[in-house]
This record gives sequence, structure tokens and C-alpha cells, in this order.
Amino acid sequence: MQTITTVAEVHHALAEARRADKRVGFVPTMGYLHDGHLALIEASRAQCAVTVVSIFVNPTQFGPNEDLSTYPRDFQRDEKLCRDAGVAIVFAPGAKEVYPAQFETFIEPGELAKPLCGAFRPGHFRGVATVVSKLFNMVQPDVAFFGQKDFQQCAVVRRMAIDLNMPIEIVTVPTVREADRLAMSSRNRYLSEEDRGRALAISRGLFAAAEEFRLGERNVDKLIAIAKRHLETVDRLQYLELVDGDTLKPAASPLRRPAALCVAAYVGSTRLIDNVILQPTP
Ligand code: AMP
Repeated sequence: MQTITTVAEVHHALAEARRADKRVGFVPTMGYLHDGHLALIEASRAQCAVTVVSIFVNPTQFGPNEDLSTYPRDFQRDEKLCRDAGVAIVFAPGAKEVYPAQFETFIEPGELAKPLCGAFRPGHFRGVATVVSKLFNMVQPDVAFFGQKDFQQCAVVRRMAIDLNMPIEIVTVPTVREADRLAMSSRNRYLSEEDRGRALAISRGLFAAAEEFRLGERNVDKLIAIAKRHLETVDRLQYLELVDGDTLKPAASPLRRPAALCVAAYVGSTRLIDNVILQPTP
């Protein structure tokens, strides 16, 4: 495995793979890797000859009062996890490599970036779309892997790749959860033991609604109400919405199309997000 920090090195490291027409898979991350990231790496390894993982805590996707400076980092551990997982290249650029002086060009996503997290994190998806498109240009992968846990991010990136004619297949990988169903997240390390227990209300609410959906409930308000009952114990519910799986606009009731039940909630001072997909069978 090679660890590299510059765009020039990325091109050099991948030149051989490209000459040999090998399929290059790409997993963008902010590091502090867990089994969720490893599932993306595994998916890439299953279908690509070469897997590139980027580790970059992207400043442009954090708001002024968010956790950029305290975001968990452990580069040596990440490197070891990548090596053990069969990654070919870890690309860990510094902030100046990605955003050199006088950088001023951004990607502005449209309607998909407005609801849910977009409503509470102004500029977040602009930062995400910008860094993902830059990383795509740097690595030039054939396929890139994203986690369903960041459902809206998947939608924004997928739309961007289509709208900007990026010749990259976007694959979404299901959310990996702890044994008690808490969605894995680098931010889970902020949770005290007591917070950790209360955080379970999030997945409990989502899975309770998913179970009622499985049993035939199709009324949007009722499904939201079922999840909400469980979410009483979080410190602050930022949003709980059932949205259309394609447009991310409020889902029409009764549900007849794929939809996502999405939540963002604070437990202590930690903001957690999660979702479940509800897929009506025709
Ligand atoms: P992050 O490092 O949090 O920016 O995440 C990097 C990638 O890993 C994104 O595509 C995330 O959606 C994905 N990811 C994060 N947590 C999980 C999880 N629990 N299961 C699956 N993918 C995840």
C-alpha cells in the first residue's frame, strides 16, 4: 500500500493501473475509519482491481460553529486499517493541496441540497459537492462508493455526476450498524456512555416505523408519529422527515414510491443522522 499526499503522486501511482485498463475504485472519507468505511472499501475491492481511499477532513463542508477543529483524527490507525483491508493507495492531502491560495470556484448543488441537513447546515452540500468533484478530478476513478447513512449526500453526489457528465459510476452501500443498531459514525466517539444509551432512540424509532411499514402501514403521518414516539428521549430533534427517495421532497401519502425516513438529532452536544429506506412493492 502507498500513502501519498499530492495530486502529482496520485497520477503517478495510478498511471500503471490506467495503462493496464484496470478498474479503479474510490472511497472518499474524512478518516477515523470504522466498519462503515470498511464496507465501502470491501465493496470497492469486490469490483475493482485498485482501491483508492482518500482521507481529508474537508474544511468547506463545516459551518463556522461546527466541529472542524475537534473532528476525530487517527491517521496511523486509519493507515493500518486500510492496509489490512487491501487498499492500494491512501491519498491524504493537506488542506493547501486541495484548496491552494486564491481558490474560489465551487460546485453549487440545487434542490436536493435544500431540505433535511441542507436546511440546518447552510453551505454544507456546496462544500461536499466541491470537494467530491475535486477528488474525482484528482483520482479519476471508474467507480466511487458512498454510504447510505449520508442519504442526502448520496443523492447530491449522484445528481452532480450526472449533471456535470462525470464518467464515474456512483455506488451506494447500506448503512453499517453496531450490534445494538446505532449507525456507525466517526462522531460516535464524542458520545459519553450515557449519551450512547440515549442515542439508541434514533435507530429504535426508525426501525419501529420500518416494521409498521413492513406490516402494511402506508400513511406518512402515522409512520412519522411511530418514529417520533421513540425519539422523545433525544436532547433535540432537528428533523424527522419522510421524503421521496428521488426528489427528497415530502413523501406523498399513502406511500407508493420508494421513500426515506430521515432523522438528525442531538444527543448531548453530538449531532447524529440516520435513515431507513421504505420500499413499497408494486
Ligand atoms: P465520512 O468519513 O463520515 O465523511 O464518511 C465517508 C463515507 O463513509 C461516506 O460515503 C459515508 O456515507 C460512509 N459512511 C459513514 N458511516 C457509514 C456507515 N455506518 N455505514 C456505511 N457507510 C458509512
